[in-house]
Amino acid sequence: MTALDSVPTDLLIGGASCDAADGQRFDVVDPATGKVLVSVADAAVEDGVRAVEVADKSLPSWAAAAPRRRADVLRRAFELLIERRDQFARLISQENGKALADAMAEVTYAAEFFRWYSEESVRVLGSVQTAPSGANRIVVLRKPIGVAVLVTPWNFPAAMATRKIAPALATGCSVVLKPAGETPLTALAIGALLEEAGVPPGVVNVLPSRRSGPLVAGMLNHPAVRKLSFTGSTEVGRLLLHTAADQVLSCSMELGGNAPFLVLADADLDQAVAGAMTAKMRNGGEACTAANRFYVHAAVADEFSSRLTAEMAALRTGPGYEEGTQLGPLINDAAVTTVERLVTDAVERGATVRTGGKRIDGPGYFYPPTVIDDVPLSAAILREEIFGPVAPIVRFDDLDEVIAQANDTEHGLASYVYSQDLATGLRVSEALESGMVGLNRGVVSDPAAPFGGVKQSGLGREGGHEGLLDYTETQYIATTW
Ligand code: NAD
Repeated sequence: MTALDSVPTDLLIGGASCDAADGQRFDVVDPATGKVLVSVADAAVEDGVRAVEVADKSLPSWAAAAPRRRADVLRRAFELLIERRDQFARLISQENGKALADAMAEVTYAAEFFRWYSEESVRVLGSVQTAPSGANRIVVLRKPIGVAVLVTPWNFPAAMATRKIAPALATGCSVVLKPAGETPLTALAIGALLEEAGVPPGVVNVLPSRRSGPLVAGMLNHPAVRKLSFTGSTEVGRLLLHTAADQVLSCSMELGGNAPFLVLADADLDQAVAGAMTAKMRNGGEACTAANRFYVHAAVADEFSSRLTAEMAALRTGPGYEEGTQLGPLINDAAVTTVERLVTDAVERGATVRTGGKRIDGPGYFYPPTVIDDVPLSAAILREEIFGPVAPIVRFDDLDEVIAQANDTEHGLASYVYSQDLATGLRVSEALESGMVGLNRGVVSDPAAPFGGVKQSGLGREGGHEGLLDYTETQYIATTW
C-alpha cells in the first residue's frame, strides 16, 4: 500500500467529508519531482463559516465531557499515530519532501503531544485563596477558551497540527484547522485519525485551502471564534494579529526565527559539530529553530569549519522517501531561489564556499548541503531566515561583542551555546534574547517544554503546562464562606 491510497482529500466538517462549497480543488505536488500527487478540496469562505458554526455547536458537550474521557481519546490518538508511524512518515515525505528519518522523527514528536496532553487534561487546575483583607475568598477557575482557529505551516505538517489540537482538546475546546496549502494531506489524515480515536463529530474540522487570506479572515470575524493559534512566518503573523484585533481574540503566535549558534573557545568540538549538524540539518534546515548563523571563536574556527564541512559534504541528497537519503528537496522552487540569493549575496561580499553553494538541476527542488565561511556581518544571510541546508560561519574574538551580534535581530526564537564551562554557558544563555536556548544541545523541541519565542518570534507558548493554559480562560469568583 502506498501512503496515498487511503488518505482523505476532501474537507472535514462536522465529522463528514465534503467538497468545497463552490467545488474548487487544488493540486498537491511532490517536491522531489515537481509532479502532482493528488488534488484536494479548496475551502471557500462559506466552508469556513460553516465549520466554525459546527465547531460552536459541538463545543458545549465536549467542554462538559469528563476530563478523563478527553484524556482517553487523546491517549488513543497517540497509540494510533505510533501504530501508523510508517504510513504517516511516508505521507509527510511525499508532500513535504523531507528525508524519511526526519519524517519518522516528526511523527513520534507529533504523537507525543497527544500523549502529553492526554496526561495534562486531568490536571487543569484552578486555585482558592483568602483575600489579603480576610474579607472573602478568591476562587479561580480555568475554563476552555472556546472555538479555536488553528493555522499551520508546511514544514512540520503533523507536529504543528498536534501541538495545537492536543492542548485544545485537552481543555475542552473545539477547533477548525487550516493547514498549509503545500501539505494538506497529513492534516486530513490526522483529522480522520482523531475521529477514529473517538473525537465527537464537529470538535475537529480540517479545511485545506489555497484561499487562506479570505478564508481565515472570514473565520476570525465570526463572533463564535475566541482563539487564534498561528504558526508560520512573522509577516503573515503580523497580518493576522491585525485581523484578530477586530474581535479582540486571544492569539498564540509561533513565528519565524534567526537562531544564532555560538561555539565558545572551550567548547567540546565533537559535541559542537554533532549539535551543529542537528541544529542545522534536522528537517533539511527547514525549521524555525534551525541554526541560521554560526559564531565560532577564532581559536577553534578552522577546526570547527573543516569538520562541519566534511560532515555536510558527506550527506546524501535525493527524494526523501528513497532509502539512504539524508537530505530531501526544499518545499518549492521559490525556496531554492531564496537560498541561492542569500548565498550569492554572501559570496559577493567576501564569504568563501567550503562545500555546496550551487542549486542542483531538476526535476525537483534540490539544494546541496552548503557551508560558507568568513561571512561578513553585512551579509543578508545573517539577517534573514535561510530555511535551507546552508551553514554560514562568522569568526569572533570577544564574547560580549558576539552576544550583542546574536541579539541584533527582531527575532528571538531559539539559540544554541557550546561551552564546557557550565557557569559560562548559563551566563551566555541568559544574556541571549530568545525564548529557548540549547546549551550543549542541538535540539530544543520537547512536548513537555514551553516552546516559543520573544520579540517578533511570537506570543505565548506551546507544549508543557503553559501550552495548556493558552487554551483556557481564567474566571475569578469572589465569595465568602
Ligand atoms: P507562512 O506564514 O507562509 O504560512 C503559514 C500558514 O499561514 C499556512 O497555512 C498558510 O497557508 C497560511 N497563510 C498564508 N498567508 C495567509 C494569510 N494572508 N491569511 C491567513 N493565513 C495565511 O509560513 P510557511 O512558509 O508555511 O512556514 C514557514 C514559516 O513558519 C517560517 O518563517 C518558520 O520560521 C515559521 N515556523 C515557525 C514555527 C514556530 O514554532 N515558531 C514552527 C514552524 C514554522
